[in-house]
Amino acid sequence: MVWKQFHCIVCDQPEERCTCHKYCALCHSDFGLRLTEDGQYYCVDCREACDYKTQDQG
Ligand SMILES: [Zn+2]
Ligand SMILES: [Zn+2]
Repeated sequence: MVWKQFHCIVCDQPEERCTCHKYCALCHSDFGLRLTEDGQYYCVDCREACDYKTQDQG
């Protein structure tokens, strides 16, 4: 499997270099945020609810 790096939709940087003010795109929580395939950040609850994957989850 090819490891695919996601980029922030706002600054176009990979997650570890993104310095944007981050909050969950759905509920605006800031708990357990991770970047997902669509370039937005989601909290752990919304990612589990919507089955969004982070870049290291394939
Ligand atoms: Zn960013
Ligand atoms: Zn959320």
